[in-house]
Amino acid sequence: MRRFSLSKLKFSISTLTSCSGCVASLMALDVFPQFLERTELIYFPFMTDSEEIVEHDIALVEGCVSNPNDIELLKKIRTNSVKVYALGSCAAFGGILSLSNKKNAEPIANYIEIDGMIPGCPPAEKFLGNLLIRLIENKEITLSEKNLCATCPLRETMNLFRTPKSIDTIYSNPYEFLEKKEDRTCFLNRGILCLGPITRDGCEQKCIEKGIPCEGCMGPISKDFTSNVVNFLGLFEVSEKFKKYKGIYYRFSKPQLEK
Ligand code: SF4
Ligand code: SF4
Repeated sequence: MRRFSLSKLKFSISTLTSCSGCVASLMALDVFPQFLERTELIYFPFMTDSEEIVEHDIALVEGCVSNPNDIELLKKIRTNSVKVYALGSCAAFGGILSLSNKKNAEPIANYIEIDGMIPGCPPAEKFLGNLLIRLIENKEITLSEKNLCATCPLRETMNLFRTPKSIDTIYSNPYEFLEKKEDRTCFLNRGILCLGPITRDGCEQKCIEKGIPCEGCMGPISKDFTSNVVNFLGLFEVSEKFKKYKGIYYRFSKPQLEK
């Protein structure tokens, strides 16, 4: 069994099929200079010339698997790294590209064993920064076991037993919601779909704070993806328009939902 380096931990940061938003968020962190100082980067095409993936300690992988090159790179990373973490919701769940009818998009765990994930599209700043520090210090990373509603600033106004129990508005244009930001009551009470009840906490309520309902980018709170969604939606009457809108339920985790 390979052991961790005794001096600075050696890291790789790799990108599969993605928009590179997670790596961009990583590089924008206040703690990123500290990360560069305290670790040795053996592979990071955004910043280093090295094209070879040699043995190292921790690999961060962003993006989903959508072609044979992704699989080849992923396997090389797994063979050479003690620990591998999925960075962002594409790597963790397949991500938004999995809604495509033309492209295949799968989570990296479909091809290699992973040691953990840092979900989010992209992961929120403090959340990502805190987890990066833990990785630099060679500590385990854990995710919240609560749902987003548990920390939502609108939770006091949530009432799932309200009447009428219908959901007729879906997330289609964020600007629509931004204009209504002054309404500070739970989206569900307003008949607007919000996936907070079945989404993992940890994003610092990025969307809610901006007046936009949750789309679930942190991924599901439990492994029972399908039953969670079905049970959740079972609480409401859903409009015809809503029924036709495919992809809203877990648009970031469709491959998981299909399992
Ligand atoms: S459903 Fe959405 S708005 Fe309502 S409490 Fe949960 S996260 Fe907040
Ligand atoms: S509110 Fe939902 S969609 Fe927005 S960042 Fe958080 S988990 Fe992602």
